[in-house]
Order: sequence, then C-alpha cells, then structure tokens
Amino acid sequence: MNVSATDSAVLGFDPDALREKYRIERDKRIRPEGNDQYVEVSGDFSRYVDDPYVAGAISREPLVAEVEVAIVGGGFGGMLAAAHLKKAGITDIILIEKGSGFGGTWYWNRYPGASCDIESYVYLPLLEETGFVPRQKYTDARETLEYCELLANTYGLHDDALLQTQVLETRWDEKNRRWWVTTDRSDKIKARFIVHSNGPLNRPKLPGIEGIDRFLGHTFHTSRWDYAYTGGDSSGNLNRLADKRVAVIGTGATAVQCVPHLAKGAGRLFVFQRTPSSIDVRNNQPTDPDWITTQAPGWQDRRRTNFESLMSGVPVTEDLVGDGWTEAFRDLFGRLREQAPPKWRLALWAAQGLFSPRRRERGLKQYLIDRAMVYMDAAKKMELADFEKMEKIRARADSVVQDQSVAESLKPYYRQFCKRPCFHDEYLQTFNRDNVTLVDTEGRGVEAFTEKGVVVAGREYEVDCIIFATGFEVGTDYSRRCGYAVVGVDGLTVSEKWQDGMATFHGLHARGFPNSFFFGPIQSGFTATFTFALDENAIQTAYIIEQLKVRGLTRVEASNAAEKKWVETVVKKARLTEDFQKSCTPGYYNNEGHVQFKPQNTFYGGGPIEFFQIMKKWRAQGKLEGLELKA
Ligand code: NDP
Repeated sequence: MNVSATDSAVLGFDPDALREKYRIERDKRIRPEGNDQYVEVSGDFSRYVDDPYVAGAISREPLVAEVEVAIVGGGFGGMLAAAHLKKAGITDIILIEKGSGFGGTWYWNRYPGASCDIESYVYLPLLEETGFVPRQKYTDARETLEYCELLANTYGLHDDALLQTQVLETRWDEKNRRWWVTTDRSDKIKARFIVHSNGPLNRPKLPGIEGIDRFLGHTFHTSRWDYAYTGGDSSGNLNRLADKRVAVIGTGATAVQCVPHLAKGAGRLFVFQRTPSSIDVRNNQPTDPDWITTQAPGWQDRRRTNFESLMSGVPVTEDLVGDGWTEAFRDLFGRLREQAPPKWRLALWAAQGLFSPRRRERGLKQYLIDRAMVYMDAAKKMELADFEKMEKIRARADSVVQDQSVAESLKPYYRQFCKRPCFHDEYLQTFNRDNVTLVDTEGRGVEAFTEKGVVVAGREYEVDCIIFATGFEVGTDYSRRCGYAVVGVDGLTVSEKWQDGMATFHGLHARGFPNSFFFGPIQSGFTATFTFALDENAIQTAYIIEQLKVRGLTRVEASNAAEKKWVETVVKKARLTEDFQKSCTPGYYNNEGHVQFKPQNTFYGGGPIEFFQIMKKWRAQGKLEGLELKA
C-alpha cells in the first residue's frame, strides 16, 4: 500500500509494518500437521463426551416404530423443523437426541458464563409466537435452555422425543421408500422422511499433546462441564475450587466467557494461551419490556433481516441492533461502498461492450480490469478499516490490563474476522487478579503434560485440574462429526458422496439420498445468527413435505441436473476469500492455516438474505423445480 510517513502519523500506525507483524505471527502458528494436531474423542478419550448433565438415566425397551418424519437432533434446528412441520399439519414425528433434554449446543455448552454473543431479540427464534421476553440484550445459557424447554412445550415436542438416544445409522430402503434409523438403544425406526440437524460444532476436540493421557489430576472439556468437581452452575459461583490450582487450555470464545468465573472461584488459575482473542466491549443491558411488547407484528423477522443485511454488506439505511457486530461490519462495508464507481460509469463500461466485436472485447476487458482495480482498491480500504478496528481492540488491552507485558500478550495481531470476535467486559480485567497467571506460549501451544501438570517452554506448572477449552471438530468427515452413518441409494454413503467436495441442491438435498434434508451452512445461507438460517431450512423442509402430501407423492430426490447447476452457482458466487484466509492466523475458520479452498465447500456467496429470497421465490412458484418426484 506504500503509506508515507505522514500517512502513518495521521493514522497512528504503519499499515505495512502491521501487515508484516500479522504475517510473522501467523507463520509462528502454522503447524505442519494441521487438523491432525488434535486427537479424536473416541477410544480412551470417549469419556470426554459422556453426558455430565443427566438428571436420571432413562430406562426403556427398544422401540420399533414407523413415522412420517424422523428428525436427528434436538437443538434449535431439530426443534424448528418439528415446529414448522406441526404448523403445516404434519404431526407424525419422532425427534432423536443424544442429550437428556432439548437445546443441542446449549444443552452441552453450559459452562460458567456461557452466553450468546448475538442479540437475544434476533437469536432466539419464534419470539413473537411464544410471547417470550428475553431478560437481557444478550441471553445466557440458563435462559436459553429455559427457552428451549418453552419451545418444546409450545410445540408439544416432549411426546415426540427419544432423549438419551444416539443414532448409529440411517439407511435408505428403496423398495419400501423408507429410511431405517438404528440407535444405540437398539431402536428400529422406519421413517418416510429424515431431517439431519446434527450441529456444525458438535464433536469436542482435544490437543494431541505429548502426555495427554499421563496427567493424574482431574480433566474435562468445556462442553461437558464437571460442576460436581467445580461447584456452581452456568451463572458462576464455582465454590469447590477455592483450594485448587486450575489450568485452562485455550483462549477462544468459550474460554473468554468461562475464565472470569474460574478466576473468581479457583485458588490459582493458569490460562494457557496460544493465540489471543479480540475482546471488544459487551455492554449487556436489561430488556425494556415496554419496548419489546409494543413492537409491530413481524418485528423479529425485520430485525434479524436488518442485522444479517448489515453483516453481509446489503445496503440498509438503519441499524436496528447497534452493537459491536454491526459496528464492525458497518465500518468494513462502509469503506467498500466509498469505493464504488458512479452508476453512469458502470453504464458506460457496459455500453462500450455493445458495439463492434473488437470494441466489445476491449470494452468488456476494460470493464473487467476497472472492476478488478475497484476490487483491489476496496480490499485495501477494508484492510485499513480492519487495522483501525484492531488497533482499538489492542488499545483496550493496554487501558484495562495493568501489567504492560501481560497487556501486550493479550493483543491479537490478525484481522478481526480471522477468528470469532469476542465481546466481554470482564475477561481482560481478570488478568489484573493476583491469583491469575497468563501463560503466553507465544503461538507454540502447550508443550506436554506430565503426571502433575502442564509444560510450557520447559517449565512445569503443577495443577489439580486441566480444563480443555480447545473447541470442536470442523472440516473432518461428515459421519465422524455427526457420529452416525448415512447410507443412501445403492449403499452410497454421504462420506463417499462428498469426499471430493460438497454437492447438494440448495444445501438441503443431496442426490442419492431421497426424502432426506440436511441442515447446515454449506451451499446454503450462512448467518451469524445461526438460528435464522436453521429457521429458513425448517420452513423450506416443512413446505416441501407438506406439498408432497398434498400432491400424493412419496419420493423426492434432487435431480442430477439441478444439483449440478446449484454446485455451479455456488462456485460462481463463491466469495474471493482464499487470499484472506491464507493471510489469517490458523484456526478452524481456515483449516488450521492449511487453506484448501474448494469453492463448492463454501456458503452461498450471494449472502444469506439473497439466498433466503431465492428459497422464498422457489416456494412461491410452487413447481418444486429441481426435485424428482414420484407417487
Ligand atoms: P475455538 O476453536 O475457538 O478455540 C480453541 C482454543 O484452543 C484456541 O484458543 C486455540 O488456540 C486453543 N488451543 C488449541 N490447541 C492448543 C494447544 N495445543 N495449546 C494451547 N492452546 C490450544 O473453540 P471455542 O470453544 O472457544 O469456540 C468455538 C466456537 O463456538 C466459536 O468460534 C463460536 O463460533 C462458538 N461460540 C460462540 C459463542 C457465542 O457467544 N455465541 C460463545 C462461545 C463459543 P489457537 O487460537 O492458537 O488455535
């Protein structure tokens, strides 16, 4: 970008020096083994996925049943699917969930301080139908679970649910046009339709560090919090740790939320950091009941559409949510829009391409070059906005943390959306406490575990307990992550189908897997408000199943042509994020720094709002286009 000394003085930082610093910090962290640095939570490690929240084990005989729709997953996706199906009059449903209750990710992630960083008025779905008023702008784990229970009661889901039940296999039976679902309780369920809503961040991962099986103290993963050991609950008060020395491995979005509570409860807390998170202001507020109860009908959809429009660069005139997320995206896309050429210029470029073939070629070429320059320039402008934002984040560490070397360690040197941005008003402050030590591994990570503790840079930190805040598997095989096999026509498995890249129609259907609906962001609309995309998946699924019933049809499968065309659309629309991803510090967003960009393995690049409009139009046409239908 060649910024002069004067520009740097005006900006308060040198963009070239920062870019170089980001590169150095990223290079330090790239590990040749990529995703293989983590061990699978199976075999000796399977205790890490045991359910610590079971109030009482359910005892029941194996079930042999036939239903219209089987739904795998009792999180928001599964619940929304059931709710919309019921609203469409399809009530013969079974919902299979491995936890002891509803909630999915919120069932498992009830660590102290667990909270959703997306505003509750957009995050919690169906608020207008349930009449529920979230207590705060950002809801916490307890309230979210309460709300899941309310949804389950509102839509009568308890009667349809098989809890504490793990699906082992779903297999298509062409002769009978049914899915056979088998479970770890020897259930045999026959279903005409199946919905796979198993959650994208569902399988915990552990670092494959030397000696991980050697430590003799207590250990657990944040998504299976051991309150019997720590005391307290998701709101904190960890009153059994006062005489304990505790280690937390990891400083991602989860650690940021639980570390302040651990610091208050533990005798001594060591936070082992490989890469710091960006910590912006949270500023949670109680809900004004007068405001929420006087909103005009349709307010929630308008609000979440406004939020996601801002997040994906769709121009909107107002910002209804007004928080750290929208501010960041307003800044970034605001910069981008400053760069847009005037409309008359675009029209001229296009017109230039309409005359002679030569002019057409030159005009088009010029058009493409100019557009590319616009893009390049805009990208640089966005980078500048990002530098500015991250400088503020780093300055916040300086202003909050008293020890300047600790403050320096807590500063993230990468672009804001390389990792999940965090918003917290107590995390940085925690490092001013006498009982808390930040162990900055300077990008290398923990070296080894011993019988007594954790080793970094040759020094052993003796602890009683190690808590893994090391996240979840992303990018591994579909069946490994969801924990069951999906076997379609002629014995084809989803793992085989997608081994060289995703292929779906609308992200929901896959050729070879009739009568099944896959919920998730790939080749579909990706939203920061994950429940918004799940709601749209559920609306689409309920519409299709209802239509099949109305039309007397029993088999639906994406046509080859439709699937091929959709994959082409996804590839064409894929956002040019490869360079950005490559420049990022490693993490699950960029396959641990080993970017293997396959454009079809991404979200619908036109953004979620455009994707939802395509689905709406498709439904309005009423032709079920792209689907092969049989009576
Ligand atoms: P992450 O994958 O984001 O973080 C894992 C952490 O473990 C990172 O800090 C990572 O370091 C660290 N780590 C891994 N291996 C080692 C090692 N060998 N030594 C030291 N540290 C190590 O998982 P989280 O559970 O924090 O978050 C997962 C996702 O869950 C988030 O991205 C977000 O999408 C979601 N979430 C959402 C919340 C919300 O408010 N809605 C709250 C919490 C989570 P490094 O960064 O160097 O890889």
